Amino acid sequence: MTSKDFPTVEGSVFFPGDEGYDTELAGFQTAYRHRPALVVAARGAEDVRIAVTYAQEHGLPVAVQATGHGLSVASEGGVVVSTRALDGVRIDSETRTAWIGAGVQWGRVVEEAARFGLAPLSGSFPGVGAVSYLLGGGVPLLGREFGYASDHVRTVEVVTADGELRTVDAASDPDLFWALRGAGHNFGVVTAIEVGLVPVERIYGGGLLFDGKHAAELMRVYAQWSATVPETLTSSIGFIPYPDLPFLPDDLRGRYVAHVRIVFNGPAQEGERLVAPLRAVAPRLSDDLGDMPYTDAGEIYREPPFPHAYSGTSVLLDGLDEDAFDAVLKATGPEADLMVVLGVRHLGGAMSRTPADGGGAVGHRDAQYLVHLVTPIDGNAELEAARSVHGDVRAALAPRALGRALLFEFGDGERASQAQTRSGYGAADYRRLAQLKRRLDPGNLFRHNRNIVPATD
Ligand SMILES: Cc1cc2nc3c(=O)[nH]c(=O)nc-3n(C[C@H](O)[C@H](O)[C@H](O)COP(=O)(O)OP(=O)(O)OC[C@H]3O[C@@H](n4cnc5c(N)ncnc54)[C@H](O)[C@@H]3O)c2cc1C
Repeated sequence: MTSKDFPTVEGSVFFPGDEGYDTELAGFQTAYRHRPALVVAARGAEDVRIAVTYAQEHGLPVAVQATGHGLSVASEGGVVVSTRALDGVRIDSETRTAWIGAGVQWGRVVEEAARFGLAPLSGSFPGVGAVSYLLGGGVPLLGREFGYASDHVRTVEVVTADGELRTVDAASDPDLFWALRGAGHNFGVVTAIEVGLVPVERIYGGGLLFDGKHAAELMRVYAQWSATVPETLTSSIGFIPYPDLPFLPDDLRGRYVAHVRIVFNGPAQEGERLVAPLRAVAPRLSDDLGDMPYTDAGEIYREPPFPHAYSGTSVLLDGLDEDAFDAVLKATGPEADLMVVLGVRHLGGAMSRTPADGGGAVGHRDAQYLVHLVTPIDGNAELEAARSVHGDVRAALAPRALGRALLFEFGDGERASQAQTRSGYGAADYRRLAQLKRRLDPGNLFRHNRNIVPATD
């Protein structure tokens, strides 16, 4: 296969060995990467249409990459559509919506929306691709008040397996519109999404950092406290055994810490009152809670901004069993053989309610907490060790587990399994998705993801 065989596109097409092939495929996850027969760096929806049609005609699977944060199964020999140049953002302040190209990162949308006193339902890290996040449901910083980010999607522009560019909304194709809002990675290459914005300019937010020796006590207080807070407050707690590395800030370097993150859409005075029980647990290593613009909310989680190799997993829980967490903290704390970053996000509130329009294919909406684990890895031995610890944690939490949050599953490479994908959805929803997959992608062109296999019955 050579560039001569491929139709002309506005963007670029790279084959193995071409200058630009590796750069186009480099992403945030560095444990592995796609190795396709060709990568199409799309410049517009028409390029995507040409790439999908070509793949269909040549029997090649199609994978998609924006930032590479959520790379699951790597493509070997297929077509990769790289969306990073689909970088348009348009805010409509009248309809309070954003039109977001497939290559756009949340940080951009946050900045653009803020000019109009609006905010998107973005997540903790501004570098994450907005479109993939929305297609997977999206757990927002303001989730308990406004629900899953995908509940706010109005229109999806997508190239389906038949090579057709469709504009999908609730009226045009209700089934596909439902699937695209929670299981969207399986149904095509999305070129842009129109999504609702919320009128939030400032929040009361930030983090409370504690020495990890208070971890068990903090977890107990957090479990009880979080069950009492209003829906306008969304929070999480992280437990992080930081390595002793020079590039880390002094308050984190070589320390096991507990980090409570707060996002409250309300007056600072009320926020202060609400967080008082957490502040009372122990002296804080740092405390930057206060009034802030939403544009600074991407700093709250203090997530590493540089590409690295990592493995991660998740458990959605219907509630917190405090005793189980003692075992989890032990397995993931500083005595563990490898670094495990443990996060517990408070869900519930509006996220647990089905929106008036029926919502999308978000899995396990009734979950009240999301536990996620991430381990930086260096090579296969560490990957296996990480999988083993992550599996132990999932087992410890199994009695209250509803399933997994597929957006928070990282680095599974070849190991992505049917069971893993199924666990992201309720059984009836998974069946509906598999049937829809049979209608729209019977040849499973889009299988280099957490794959929903087309139904056969
Ligand atoms: C540091 C960090 C913080 C995070 N915080 C949050 C959070 O707060 N809330 C939350 O919900 N999630 C969060 N996530 C998870 C994140 O939403 C997913 O990893 C998401 O898939 C990343 O999308 P991406 O475009 O950045 O990554 P990519 O790796 O480029 O895309 C991930 C996958 O999405 C699919 N895909 C991408 N673009 C398209 C497209 N245009 N059409 C069809 N399929 C596509 C592909 O299968 C691709 O492999 C976080 C992840 C990280 C690493």
